[in-house]
Amino acid sequence: MRAGDCDLWLKDETGHLTGSFKDRGSAVGVGWALQNDIARVGTVSHGNMARSVAATAAATGRDCVVLVPADIPADRLSHISVFGPTIIRVEGAYGDLYERSFDLEQSMDGLFINSDDPLRVAGQKTVAYEIVDQITPEAIVLPVSSGGNASAVWKGLRELEWMGHLDDSPRLHLVQAEACSPIADAYGSEATAVGRVQPSETIAYSIANPDPPSGTRALEAARQTGGSVIAVSDQAVRDAQDRLARQAGVRVEPASATTLAGAESLVESGEITADETVVLVLTGTGFTEQIVDDVQPPTVALDVLPQRLPEILSS
Ligand SMILES: *Cc1c(COP(=O)(O)O)cnc(C)c1O
Repeated sequence: MRAGDCDLWLKDETGHLTGSFKDRGSAVGVGWALQNDIARVGTVSHGNMARSVAATAAATGRDCVVLVPADIPADRLSHISVFGPTIIRVEGAYGDLYERSFDLEQSMDGLFINSDDPLRVAGQKTVAYEIVDQITPEAIVLPVSSGGNASAVWKGLRELEWMGHLDDSPRLHLVQAEACSPIADAYGSEATAVGRVQPSETIAYSIANPDPPSGTRALEAARQTGGSVIAVSDQAVRDAQDRLARQAGVRVEPASATTLAGAESLVESGEITADETVVLVLTGTGFTEQIVDDVQPPTVALDVLPQRLPEILSS
């Protein structure tokens, strides 16, 4: 895969249990519940984290409670419900649930594993170990929403430095969607903390947190490693998503395609140069998405296929 004349390495996270890096965090979080005889786990999510916690709970015989927003689309709901959790549609300010869910732990008699839970972060940091074990990048490009994963990758890199496995931390370049970019806004305005934004719709639904709980830490991760936080348009994301499928054979969801769109813009601005080793983290599979595309391949009778094939291939 290339962006301009820069070669890109892809860290493919789409092959986990439920198709995203969230499974790294759920393995540690739900594993903790298993080890400590906590029979029930919960999460506040309507996407990959919900699916991941529900599946990991199922695999370890834990009960699972998933709190979703009341207006969740039906196909998203079914991708979670296949793993058999108790799903509750919550009306009201869904954004406040992240904090308020911890008050529910007692009445639920269980443990909430949300996006920047220390156990989740501990699991997700292992992607940094794997990357550095295979290659020494100058830059890592990562989509960011709640900031939990950016915190995790940064933590992993700092540990590797501390243990003497890494001389210089790679720069962390974080990417958001233009329609919802609180961390990129804070970076651009040189703010010290990330505030809440009023989001609009984006195809990159997995990274549309308007009030990221670990946003300020993600901002710091980008700054302290010499990286940056940028935002990309939905059109650039769509193009990047197609390019990843057609040129690398990886079908990712839009949130993950922001990394290629982001790398293209970083090459253009000179923040990434052709001589550098750059890794894009492809955070989640595109196979859970409904693909609406009017594909019209030719229809050919079997008997005439031998004659027609050369003509079709050359058209
Ligand atoms: C959750 C998620 C992200 C964002 O991770 P945060 O820890 O919320 O910043 C990016 N890509 C995909 C596919 C995700 O599911």
